[in-house]
Amino acid sequence: MYLYNSLSRKKELFTPNHPDIVKMYTCGPTVYHFAHIGNLRSYIMEDVLEKYLRYSGYNVKRVMNITDVGHLTSDGDTGEDKMLKGAKREHKSVMDIAKFYTDAFFDDCRKLNIKTPDVVEPATNCIENYIHIIETLLEKGYAYQAGGNVYFDTSKLEKYHVFHDFSEDDLDVGVREGVEEDLNKRNKNDFVLWFTQSKFEDQALKWDSPWGVGYPGWHIECTGISLKHLGEDLDIHCGGIDNAFPHHTNEIAQSESFLGHKWCNYWFHVLHLNTTQGKMSKSSGEFLTVSLLESKGYDPICYRFFCLQSHYRKNLVFSYENLDNSVAAYNKLIDKIAALDPKAEGEIDKQMLWELKQRFMKGMDADLNTSLGITALYDVLKAKTDDRTKLAALQDFDQVLGLNLLEAAAKKREAQKQAEAAEEHDPEIEALLAERTSAKKAKDFATADRIRDELKARGIEIIDTPQGPKWKRV
Ligand code: AMP
Ligand code: ZN
Repeated sequence: MYLYNSLSRKKELFTPNHPDIVKMYTCGPTVYHFAHIGNLRSYIMEDVLEKYLRYSGYNVKRVMNITDVGHLTSDGDTGEDKMLKGAKREHKSVMDIAKFYTDAFFDDCRKLNIKTPDVVEPATNCIENYIHIIETLLEKGYAYQAGGNVYFDTSKLEKYHVFHDFSEDDLDVGVREGVEEDLNKRNKNDFVLWFTQSKFEDQALKWDSPWGVGYPGWHIECTGISLKHLGEDLDIHCGGIDNAFPHHTNEIAQSESFLGHKWCNYWFHVLHLNTTQGKMSKSSGEFLTVSLLESKGYDPICYRFFCLQSHYRKNLVFSYENLDNSVAAYNKLIDKIAALDPKAEGEIDKQMLWELKQRFMKGMDADLNTSLGITALYDVLKAKTDDRTKLAALQDFDQVLGLNLLEAAAKKREAQKQAEAAEEHDPEIEALLAERTSAKKAKDFATADRIRDELKARGIEIIDTPQGPKWKRV
C-alpha cells in the first residue's frame, strides 16, 4: 500500500517496522464537549485506514488517548484548560465532564461504525510516565525550569519544524495572532512539559511532581501513552491536519530527544471538514454533531458515506445539500443491492471474486482512495456474474468501508415485502377494483374510468394483467 507521509511529503510504500504487527497511534478527543462532525471525519478516515491494514493481512495494535487534562484553549501555553472551561460551563466537576463526553464520543463512534481502538487511555492515568520522561529530558539537557514550569528547549534540536507543509514564519507560536507570549520561554517555540504555575489557579486536577504540584502539558500525554503501550517505535501516527503543528511537531521533539532515535515512520493527517462559511467550530454557527444530523432525519452511516466519497487529503465542505446528494447516492446503491437475490444458489465464482477484490484494493492501495473503493462497489453490481458472488464481494469490501451494505439492503427488502403484503390486503382498494371490474363487464366505462382516476389521485396505479387487475403505489 502507498501512503502519503507528512514527514517526507511523498507517497511511500508502507512497510511496518516489525513484520507481525503494525503499531498505530491516534490522537484522541478532548472530552470537554461533544465531538463535531469535523472531528469525526478524522476518526472515520483513521478507522478505514486501520480496517484496510487488517484487511490487507496485517495485525494492528491501535492506541488512542483521551485528553482529559492539559489541552489549553490556545495553541500556545497560555490559554485556559479546555476541560476546566467545560466544567465551568456546565457546573459539573472535571471528572464528570470527562466521563460524560467520553461516553458521548464512543456513542457517536458506534453510530458511525468506528471501531474502538485496542487500547484507550485517559491522559490522567499516566502521570508517572510523563514525570519519568520529563526527568530524563531535564537530565539530557533538553528541558529547563523557569517561572515554576518545565519547558522543552527547542534550540537543542537540529531541526524543529519537521513537517514542511507550512512556512516556518506561519508556524511560530509566539508571533501568532491571539496567542500571548510566555516570557519564561527561552525560545518562542519552546513549550511546557509540566505546569506548576499558570494564570488559572483553579486548575482542578493536580499531581505531585519533582517540580511541585501541577499538571502535564498537552503534548507530553501522547508521547507518554504511545511509549507506554507501543514501545520505542511507532509505525503510523494519525490526527487531523491542525495537529501537525504544534502538537505533533512537539511530540516528535520530546519523544526523539527522550529516546535518542527516530520514533515514528509515517504521519497520516486528515484534512479538514469545513462549512460553507469556513472553519468548523463548536462555539459559533450551527454546532454540527451526529445527534443534530439524526434529529434532522439523517442516518449517521450516510455521513460516513459522504466522508468516504472524498479523499482524506482534500478539504471537504459540509452543507446539507452535499449531504443530501450523498444520501440519495447511498439509497440508490442500497436499492441495487436489495435487488440481488440473497437466497441465490450455487457456488461463488472465486476467479471473479478475486478480480473484483483486486480492483477494490488497487484503489485503496493508492493512498487510501476511498472514493475508488466506493467505485469498486458499482463495479461489483455491474459485473457479469451471479448474485451470490456479488453479495460475497460487497460483504468483503464492507469490512473496510463499514457502510452496513448488506444489513441496509436486507432491511429494504423486508420493508418492500411488508409494503407489498399490506397493499395486497387493502380491502377498500380491492373493493374499488372489484367494482371497476363489474362496471367494465357491464360496459359502464364511465364508472370504470372514474374509479381509475380516483385511485390515481390517491397515488395508486392499476395494472391490468391476464390474472385480473393488480395495483401498486407510485
Ligand atoms: P480535539 O478533540 O480538538 O483534540 O480534536 C480531535 C481530532 O479532530 C483531532 O485529530 C483534530 O485534528 C481533528 N479535527 C479538528 N477539527 C477538524 C475538522 N474541522 N475536520 C477534521 N478533523 C478535525
Ligand atoms: Zn496527540
